Amino acid sequence: MHFITRRKRLRIRPGEVPPAARQGHARAGLIAQVAGLTLCAFLAGCSLPMMRMEGVLPSLASAAQIEPTPTPFSPVEPIPTAPPTRLHPDLQDVTATIWPGDPQAPVLLYHHFIPDSAPANDTHIHLSEFRSELQTLYADGYSLVPLGDWLRGDVHVAAGRRPLILTIDDLFFADQIYLLPDGTPAPSTGIGILWQFSQEHPDFGFAVALFANLGDKAYPNFIQGNGGTRVGSGWQDSLARTIVWCIDHGAIPYNHFFHHPYLDRLSPERITAEAQDNDLKLKALLQLAGRPDLLDRIDTILALPYGHWPATPEGVKAVVDYRSPQGKPVIGIVEVGGIYAGHYLQAVYSPQFDPHHIPRMVGSSLAMGYLTHYQDRFPAGQQMDLGSLDLSQMKTAAAVQTSLADACRLRACPDGVYSLLGSIFRKSGSGFTLLWDGAKAAQ
Ligand SMILES: [Zn+2]
Repeated sequence: MHFITRRKRLRIRPGEVPPAARQGHARAGLIAQVAGLTLCAFLAGCSLPMMRMEGVLPSLASAAQIEPTPTPFSPVEPIPTAPPTRLHPDLQDVTATIWPGDPQAPVLLYHHFIPDSAPANDTHIHLSEFRSELQTLYADGYSLVPLGDWLRGDVHVAAGRRPLILTIDDLFFADQIYLLPDGTPAPSTGIGILWQFSQEHPDFGFAVALFANLGDKAYPNFIQGNGGTRVGSGWQDSLARTIVWCIDHGAIPYNHFFHHPYLDRLSPERITAEAQDNDLKLKALLQLAGRPDLLDRIDTILALPYGHWPATPEGVKAVVDYRSPQGKPVIGIVEVGGIYAGHYLQAVYSPQFDPHHIPRMVGSSLAMGYLTHYQDRFPAGQQMDLGSLDLSQMKTAAAVQTSLADACRLRACPDGVYSLLGSIFRKSGSGFTLLWDGAKAAQ
């Protein structure tokens, strides 16, 4: 008897693909689970709930019952191979994140990454400096969380780590990412350094928001003898492949408007067209790469070029009310701020959470000093494994709250903020209070 089943670790919402950084982290556990379940299927008395008999495929036993045919010229028909069956597709491993206080995250901004021999400035950081900043952030307990998850109410972080959101603006330039022939990002690029660092420090994670202008430049897709890059034939294919790698691994492209315009100089119609053209170009590139499915993973988040808002209320309305061609409304607008502004990205339930004014600080040695000094302002999350739950029964915040309360009857649960399956609760004493209804927000 051969069973094929599959469970995956899920920290976010039902049906959502976890970021690549988490996938790698969970892969060993997944393999162990699958191996254990398959072995279990061969043993009498296995009582795992997903080992029910319905949906079992044609077996070797039924194959053995086929009578030989009377004529040697008619071979036995092979048993058709049926597709793998998930015996209980809604059963998933579920992990809640527990915050000792209200979570908040700093958001850092980078632009270009240059060799140490070139002069650096506010928008061009030396590659060695970038790596050393990542090291500082890691040593201070920060780990990367995806901006899109945070804005949708999924406030999760690796166990014992403080949340940090990285953003890069003005993509796609070859100093930001350039794929080597083996398909990995070159270590002489910003995203390549980030990728390498996350491979060396898996609990740092790999998540970065890329604010792209897809209408103001061609993508350099050839490395020249002197180490520089140039635009050559097929650059659109190279760009499309690069974007696919980014999305597949957790570097998600968002909208920085098509031509990096001054929004305060445009009519409301032109503002909408600038945002729309950028989204349409992204869609065309993903179609070119044969991966239009990746659009589903991209929320509508805008970064204002130069940090400038439109000059008129109608222009502001065009930004705030923008919807992508896929019909997704804006869930966040990011700005550029000073490092001593003293405000950070709050959780979605907070009265201070303002999705239209997401503060960012430029990544620099000053910002590193600040984040080291004030690291205790950013609580570290812990994780609580709830085991396997039937997600078909967890579609409302009330059901999620009940499962949390049940779990906390069996173990000691600290007071704090609990994030689970897109909803957020506060535990105080023996009771849970709903802070954010993820199911309702997703409608
Ligand atoms: Zn920009």
